[in-house]
Amino acid sequence: MIDLHSHTTASDGSLTPAELAALAAGRGLTCLGITDHDTIGGLAEAEQAAAAVGLELVPGVEISVDYSGGEFHLLGYFIDYRNALFLDRLSYLQENRFNRNQVMLRKMRDLGFEMTMADIEAEAGGGQIGRPHMARALLKKGYVDSVQEAFNRYLADGQPLHVPKVKLAPPEAIDLVHLAGGAAVLAHPRYLGFDDPADLEVEIEQLAGAGLDGLECYYSQHSEAQTRLYLEIATRHDLVVTAGSDFHGISKPDVELGTIYQGRAGDSSLLEPLRESARSHAGG
Ligand code: AMP
Ligand code: ZN
Ligand code: FE
Ligand code: FE
Repeated sequence: MIDLHSHTTASDGSLTPAELAALAAGRGLTCLGITDHDTIGGLAEAEQAAAAVGLELVPGVEISVDYSGGEFHLLGYFIDYRNALFLDRLSYLQENRFNRNQVMLRKMRDLGFEMTMADIEAEAGGGQIGRPHMARALLKKGYVDSVQEAFNRYLADGQPLHVPKVKLAPPEAIDLVHLAGGAAVLAHPRYLGFDDPADLEVEIEQLAGAGLDGLECYYSQHSEAQTRLYLEIATRHDLVVTAGSDFHGISKPDVELGTIYQGRAGDSSLLEPLRESARSHAGG
């Protein structure tokens, strides 16, 4: 059984890559995809740790994509995460994130919060810093009573501390994954924000035209009806199907590694079509 969507301390997960690999092997998974937000910082450690416990690691990434309706996350699988051009594009996103963090910190100070970058970094455990770490720092200092309150009052879009992040347009993100020789998969389609399945299908058809390779039909937060709909859409548009929990550890306590659909992990038969799709993009 497999789980192709998980996060480590390299982004906003609470387990290190080695801890996550050990947990995956302990849960009986044969294959684990690590997909940190806009960073590949955990993959080298994960690859070593996975090899040591006899687990196949699918090197991945989850790219935040510019999209007006809802939340658009693009997964890249079987990426060559040492590709120089790919790393160059990622570092552009990271520089923007760094600058954004500085601006958000200044806004916190302007609101009268006593906060330093070191306070926020302490919540990130050496990985990439984002709003979840700011929320935890605000909580620790007693400015809010929960992480959710930190988002609702300060950090969510439209709230006083929010600063938009530079994001790639959908075709740019798809091209970036292909540049790294990976397969481009639309994460958790439910969060794109379509109420009407027909509208969603039109959007996915366009994305398929832009090179999208797959759809994360099996996802820990999809209902059975949603799963069935996404499977039908994937079939109609010749997209590969993936399965992921989106495990984050304590930062997303309701989600368990390897629990994706009907209490189970993804089927290992999903793996070869995904690998085959990535292979068609290998070599740039
Ligand atoms: P960032 O990349 O710094 O913008 O942070 C994005 C992360 O913040 C997401 O992956 C979520 O984990 C979290 N997040 C974003 N919006 C909310 C919200 N309204 N409530 C709780 N968590 C949120
Ligand atoms: Zn996350
Ligand atoms: Fe996501
Ligand atoms: Fe995720």
